[in-house]
Amino acid sequence: MHRATKLFRIFGIDVKLHYTWWFVFIFIAWSLASSFFPHYFPEYTTTEYWIMGIVASALLFVSVLLHELAHSLVAKAKNIKVDSITLFFFGGVASISKEDMKPSSEFFMAIAGPLFSIFLGGVFYVLHILDINGMWTAITFYLYQLNFILAAFNLVPGYPLDGGRALRAILYAYYKDITKATRIAAGLGKLFAGFLIVLGLVSLFSGIGTGLWFVLLGGFLYFIANISYQQVVIKSILDKITVQELSTKPTIVSPTLKFVDFMKKYGNSGKTTFIVKGKSFSGVLDINRIQRISPKMKDLVTVQQLSVSLHKIKTVSLKDTAYTAFKLITTQNIEILPVMHKKSLVSVITRQSLTNRLMWETKFHTIRKRKA
Ligand SMILES: [Zn+2]
Repeated sequence: MHRATKLFRIFGIDVKLHYTWWFVFIFIAWSLASSFFPHYFPEYTTTEYWIMGIVASALLFVSVLLHELAHSLVAKAKNIKVDSITLFFFGGVASISKEDMKPSSEFFMAIAGPLFSIFLGGVFYVLHILDINGMWTAITFYLYQLNFILAAFNLVPGYPLDGGRALRAILYAYYKDITKATRIAAGLGKLFAGFLIVLGLVSLFSGIGTGLWFVLLGGFLYFIANISYQQVVIKSILDKITVQELSTKPTIVSPTLKFVDFMKKYGNSGKTTFIVKGKSFSGVLDINRIQRISPKMKDLVTVQQLSVSLHKIKTVSLKDTAYTAFKLITTQNIEILPVMHKKSLVSVITRQSLTNRLMWETKFHTIRKRKA
């Protein structure tokens, strides 16, 4: 997630704060100080309400962080890498980078968060009824309810919510088909997202300000449900294809070739993929990446100067799956990915060829059934 600042590192996991978090933090503190606390606990001063609001808002985010840590620690126990936890607008998100997860691992990882929220809710409830200090009793009154709500909301069985992830794990174990399991779980997730949007719109029109919040949250969940399903479909298709099948022989040009001569030679050739290869340089020339060049510069600049050196790109080999290539192309944001064989640049695979292949498969199911 972009525009997030690192706060600290715990159990080997970076905890980050996305800039949108500040809006929510202030909004929650303000609404607690101006309406929630004065309504339930009328005996305090404005300053005290603000102190309570800020402390409660901060502890709410500590609760969210602990919820995400619970997911992350179960993941780590299952040998799944956790990169970071980011707190943002809608709460928290743990970035867990493994796709081929065992159903049991995904299940336990998913329910760990809500279970921990229920536990936290219990702790705050006990602190609330102990009634040690008036202000603290008010703060814990809010926190125990919010942790229970957080648990209940996350247990809704629609992907990408935790309940939806647990459901997907169960369906995956049952059908042995991740695409089908994700389709059902994400379908329920979209249904729930639609329900939140309708609920939000209804309350907006009846003049309740929080309606907008539900609309945004519903939209966000719908978007993630959709994209998660697409990802699974893309993976299921491209995992069956090797890089070799989709790679193309690019046109090889010499590093010392002047750009003006390169244009004369290939400008009308219809060729689109070029690699630059000489004794001491190998790289990729991506025409889409080249900025406008002044006529003067065209005479001076060589193709080597306009290309990206192989050292700067994570490459694939012929035997890798097309999905590996797809991920490298998306994460590096490039159009042409070099394909290596025995430490030498042999061909390239393009974003276009992957997109075309996906289009053919999703429309016409062109992949022949292979022997297992
Ligand atoms: Zn969760």
